[in-house]
Amino acid sequence: MSEVLVLIDAPEGKVTKPSLELLTIAARIGEPSAVFFGSDVPSSLAEYGAAKVYQLDDAVYEEYLVGPKAEALAQLVAEKSPAAVLVPATSEGKEIGARVALKAESGYITDAVDVAVDGDSVTTTQSVFAGNFTVQAAVTKGIPVIAVKPNSATPEKADAAGTVEAVSVDVSDAAKGAKITSSKPKEASGRPELTEAAIVVSGGRGTGGDFSEVEAFADSLGAAVGASRAAVDSGWYPHNFQIGQTGKTVSPQLYVANGISGAIQHRAGMQTSKTIVAVNKDEEAPIFELVDFGVVGDLKTVLPQATEEIVKRK
Ligand code: FAD
Repeated sequence: MSEVLVLIDAPEGKVTKPSLELLTIAARIGEPSAVFFGSDVPSSLAEYGAAKVYQLDDAVYEEYLVGPKAEALAQLVAEKSPAAVLVPATSEGKEIGARVALKAESGYITDAVDVAVDGDSVTTTQSVFAGNFTVQAAVTKGIPVIAVKPNSATPEKADAAGTVEAVSVDVSDAAKGAKITSSKPKEASGRPELTEAAIVVSGGRGTGGDFSEVEAFADSLGAAVGASRAAVDSGWYPHNFQIGQTGKTVSPQLYVANGISGAIQHRAGMQTSKTIVAVNKDEEAPIFELVDFGVVGDLKTVLPQATEEIVKRK
């Protein structure tokens, strides 16, 4: 079975759910080999199907931006000639993928939501134009490098050997072009990670800039908080919480949109949620075409009442 290289994202040594999803997707097209940057190889890599783990343990990968990681992955690609390379469609993953494809003189597909094998070629499904079109694509030149969107698969446990192979790369000066001069961890909100949360509560322009009701409601449910682009562009919520075409894609069990009209670019990031609820004071708002349950009302009144009721029933 051909090897499929999977770039693992593991901030502070904890493998992200989108990386485990990549291992599950890789197993559909070949034998997954994880490419892990760090000192302690997490056991979850073998548990979720990595037959091999290429471990790159060197401070250079922490000290610089993506250059060294991209160079190391490109070297592995040249040595192993895998059937494909899968990277998470995060900002770092996409940048590494682009650099690797360039070095390998390969085609590059981003924002895939599925990857499959068709005869000799690896094909992808992409959701484009805010989810309005589904495109099938295949790389026609070189080893396919594919960036896969989070929530494209459910990670499946698959006990694999997880044989660790230490890899050492002489990183070139060119790859060390941008050094990290300082880094500060995000203040912990205590809320789950947006793309991994089972419940997402989001706010839009209808919040008027005050997310306190949205956050209190989210906390009563143990949910992550998201935002529409209108809220982000107004400076009311940080960009890394934006949901939609130019933000993150979420697919939780429950999505609650508050004061969000339901523009197609917002839908693109949440329409695969299992149950969708909206609170909007305009009964004609397009979001109501999409919802399982809708509340026509002012979020400033509805959310505190709902929060109080949930807290009471706990
Ligand atoms: P609005 O459309 O202004 O809607 C606000 C809603 O709040 C209204 O329906 C109103 O009735 C309701 N409301 C007002 N007050 C209250 C209240 N007190 N209680 C309850 N309801 C209330 N958008 C994204 O979200 N994500 C993206 O990634 C994204 N990418 C884009 C990419 C491109 C290329 C473009 C062109 C646009 C993109 N957009 C994106 C923007 C998108 O088109 C919309 O402008 C945006 O989603 C609107 O945000 P909103 O629903 O919060 O605001």
